[in-house]
Amino acid sequence: MVLTAGDTYAVTLFLIVCLSVFGRKLYLRIRYLFLAKGRERRWDHIPTRVKNFIVYGIFQRKVDREWYAGVLHSFIFWAFVILGASVVEITAQAYAAGWQVPTPTIAGFSLNGPLYFAEEVVAFLGAIGVGMALYRRYVIRPKKLMHEGMLDATIVLLFILGIVTSLLFYNATDVALGTAALPAWKPISSTLVRLAIVPADPTWWHVLWWTHVVLLFTFLAYVPHSKHMHIIFAIVNTFFMDLTPKGALKKVDLEKTTTFGVNRVEQLSWRQLLDGYACTECGRCTDACPANATGKPLNPMRIITNMRDTLDEQGAAILGGKTDGQPDMFQTVHSKDGIWACTTCYACVYECPVMNEHVPKIIEMRRHLVLNQGEMPAETMEAMRKIEQNFNPWGIGWDQRGKWAEGLGVPLMSTASASSEPVEILYWVGCAASFDDRNRKVAQAFSRILQKAGVRFAILGPEEKCTGDPPRRLGNEYLAQTMIRGNVETLNRYRVTRIVATCPHCFNTLKNEYPDFGGQYDVVHHSQFLRELIDAGRLAPTKDVLQFLTYHDACYLGRYNGIFDEPRDVLYRIPGVRVVEMEKCRDRGFCCGAGGGRMWMEERIGEKVNHRRLSHIEETNANAVATACPYCLIMLDDAAKTKNREDIRRYDIAELLERSL
Ligand code: SF4
Ligand code: SF4
Repeated sequence: MVLTAGDTYAVTLFLIVCLSVFGRKLYLRIRYLFLAKGRERRWDHIPTRVKNFIVYGIFQRKVDREWYAGVLHSFIFWAFVILGASVVEITAQAYAAGWQVPTPTIAGFSLNGPLYFAEEVVAFLGAIGVGMALYRRYVIRPKKLMHEGMLDATIVLLFILGIVTSLLFYNATDVALGTAALPAWKPISSTLVRLAIVPADPTWWHVLWWTHVVLLFTFLAYVPHSKHMHIIFAIVNTFFMDLTPKGALKKVDLEKTTTFGVNRVEQLSWRQLLDGYACTECGRCTDACPANATGKPLNPMRIITNMRDTLDEQGAAILGGKTDGQPDMFQTVHSKDGIWACTTCYACVYECPVMNEHVPKIIEMRRHLVLNQGEMPAETMEAMRKIEQNFNPWGIGWDQRGKWAEGLGVPLMSTASASSEPVEILYWVGCAASFDDRNRKVAQAFSRILQKAGVRFAILGPEEKCTGDPPRRLGNEYLAQTMIRGNVETLNRYRVTRIVATCPHCFNTLKNEYPDFGGQYDVVHHSQFLRELIDAGRLAPTKDVLQFLTYHDACYLGRYNGIFDEPRDVLYRIPGVRVVEMEKCRDRGFCCGAGGGRMWMEERIGEKVNHRRLSHIEETNANAVATACPYCLIMLDDAAKTKNREDIRRYDIAELLERSL
């Protein structure tokens, strides 16, 4: 079958129009990315980036964290990839009838046949994938997909369905007319012919060719105008994903910076803006967000999509230098209430299949409010004042920091460092275990364990200061850096090499953020250290501790630092302890509500996050909950008390281990 000269002219014109529409929008979007003033270096560690690109971009490892979505998405994705060859071949029929995509020939065997076979199979699977997607959106109707992007998503799905079915039907008419190349390799079209669904009619062939080509190129023109531009940008995003430790916030150069944080989209970095174009609007981030789940006005997906839409709306004005009077990000991207509601639990970033980074944007917006506007919730202002005065957010005198250790024989670093026997570890106690009564008991239990194991350790006592985690996450980089620099000076003065922290927030900051300030130490969490001591035979848990309990993962230990097994291993080694998992556990763990400085804020909107977490514990019927974080312990304690569930006991893993020794 051949097309006429009229077809060729018409399709050429159509192609030019569609490619122009596509190219213009794509050009604008890329141009807008270059408006970014924020600096970001993402050209390092190329081999790792290539690996990530293959794993997360091509093979979409994260998409299949939800199996149904993973299956349908892979059907559609691979249909797109493999059908690229058929697009070229079918379009080329307008210029050279019978032209085939050149493929290598191996031992006289042309690969065109297998290519046709693959095209037919993926087109068929692509249609099934679309069916699954429509079923999910219109029958299952998960809450996370019920947003205004529904229409766009449906249009895109119908386009894809039209493209793959028109391809199969076009191939079928070709087979029916006897003009198809290698028909034996086209099983689905041949079946359509055998079932007499497609007639051997040249008019059908002609109409289907046009249908396929029109759908293809209209879709191409539509893509950059829709959320489906993630087809192009998501894969790029995976290459440029953040390779620094998850728990490390970017250091601000206080000497050189004059304006802090962001309140306008062009102040973000190109990589942060790219997130908007990469977003698939899958809603996984919002679905995982504990603040959103408990009714706070925080929607991580909206941070990304509103940022993208703001860039689209204001891009031309920014390009023309006319930003005066344009609404800022707190009006167009996210409300201040929402930005303060974030617990920085990292669930949004962890779940995002295209490696979008929500938390750094939230922190940048907080930095703007705190450092440029002097604006923050009153309670956090109080916590900052306490840190400034006494180096801890509890506001208790700094000289009381080592009080919990009185009578325990725990040496201070100032005396231990003068001894001829060097200390094995520095126990970083943290503010919570130093000043909160409940957590002081944990510090005491942990110290007694260390003594039983014969570990030579010391604490800094009054020389220890807040690590800087709360002010940093609250946007007060000045105060955070003051604390960090003070601590680094102390630690380096004592030539500390190994630190054990019982608080995951301290652990994360010391391990991942202190290196930026000249503090390089081997930092371990007490769950890791306790397991190490048990493995080395320095601790032998032998006594029965009869507890049927569940373990609550702390975000800064689990999602941020990948420590899921160690605390569990400690619990498994305690005789008599039986552990049942909550549905939301490990990397899907639900925050206790205290991270990101939320510990120091009132929770006035919606259900309390710690109450929701308690309900997860209740579902297991466990009679106790263990954790390895002082913040979580405080929050779970509070929830159990206020919800009259004090029968559910709350422990740190160290307390349980001590009982078994
Ligand atoms: S970090 Fe946690 S609380 Fe903050 S937006 Fe993401 S999921 Fe929500
Ligand atoms: S930011 Fe990521 S997880 Fe959230 S909707 Fe977009 S693609 Fe999905």
